[in-house]
Amino acid sequence: MSDVEPTTAPIAAISTSAPVAMPTPSSARPKRGELTLAAPRGGKPPQHLADLDPAERKAAVEALGHKGFRAKQLSTHYFERLVESPQEMSDLPKAIRDDLVAKLLPQLLTPVRTLAADNGKTVKSVYRLHDGALVESVLMRYPKRVTICISSQVGCGMNCPFCATGQEGLTRNMSTAEIVEQVVQAARLLRRGEVAGGAEGAPLRVSNVVFMGMGEALANYGAAVGAIRRITDPAPDGLGMSARGITVSTVGLVPAMDKLAAEGIPLTLALSLHAPDDKLRNELVPINTRWSVDEAIDAAYRYFQVTGRRVSIEYALIRGMNDQGWRAELLGTKLNARGRGWVHVNPIPLNPTPGSRWTASDPGVEREFVRRLRALGVPTTVRDTRGSDIDGACGQLAAATA
Ligand code: SAH
Repeated sequence: MSDVEPTTAPIAAISTSAPVAMPTPSSARPKRGELTLAAPRGGKPPQHLADLDPAERKAAVEALGHKGFRAKQLSTHYFERLVESPQEMSDLPKAIRDDLVAKLLPQLLTPVRTLAADNGKTVKSVYRLHDGALVESVLMRYPKRVTICISSQVGCGMNCPFCATGQEGLTRNMSTAEIVEQVVQAARLLRRGEVAGGAEGAPLRVSNVVFMGMGEALANYGAAVGAIRRITDPAPDGLGMSARGITVSTVGLVPAMDKLAAEGIPLTLALSLHAPDDKLRNELVPINTRWSVDEAIDAAYRYFQVTGRRVSIEYALIRGMNDQGWRAELLGTKLNARGRGWVHVNPIPLNPTPGSRWTASDPGVEREFVRRLRALGVPTTVRDTRGSDIDGACGQLAAATA
């Protein structure tokens, strides 16, 4: 019943761009249901141009003793031209180039591994951060769009038991520039023609960014919104992408959802619901013990009212857990009680994670779940599970223990 692309094909290529060191797990595994809302403080990543807005960039360049207009030149290289090597920055005199690059364009993400699936159309990148932490992002090329799924935290404190990242606990927040750099590196990958599947192989631009990798973006609010600004600011100040192509997914941090609505950015909000009743959701999405199903749905509805943007409800279908017809009906009824036309539901077949006893619902059960929602007039689209065979699908990113 999926109106999206067929799912995974066998792994097409595996390339190793640098040796993979075993990381030291920097956080203890959380106990069942335990939440970590504040990230542990660690060494801050070096400051980067993408952490700063244009006025701050000018100030930073001047503080280094250079002319303020150099900030715009650097921004043009980084955001607009996606320059990879300082040698290409020929408008910056050699004498100052190295200083500017060292201070404002430090390498934040070092690629350690690249895995391809779906005949090269899905590429998962594993990056090492300045402190050795590992994060992942996944680039997916479709006929008419290119989506990157990015991480916003190292690990995650939300502890959803079916999600690989959730099992690792939260190591630290990522900085704005670390978040943005995943999109920039993906754009360069595309430009180099390293992602298969475009019309006659022509490079495309990244059109969609989804915060569905590692972490809970709204628990790292400032850095996530900073990254969204950099991604959407017109070039050369930012990457110039449309906010309409951005999706922020949340477990349902209600105050942060309201705050995001007030930012006035026309992005899509996705609420990871996974159950329409508190009894089950308390177990599947432990933050539910703080903000209930009804409170989370109300916040999603307010997001729609404030922004006019249709909200997505994520629902991982787990065999025998949350996939009963009555739960589809309860979900549809609760959504309709707020209004019509404000929401659509994205069931996702559960991507199994190592050691978990849970698995995806049977196809027939999935079809029935979708049918019941549609029968209630709720637009419903099954999400594809691209990259699941490279552990690159939703909920499978766990670079910290790769
Ligand atoms: N912290 C954010 C982003 C997480 S990943 C959030 O929870 O929304 C994006 C989506 O993948 C979420 O809906 C998450 O619940 C879902 N997900 C996690 N593990 C999964 C799995 N094993 N199979 C399918 N979806 C999963």
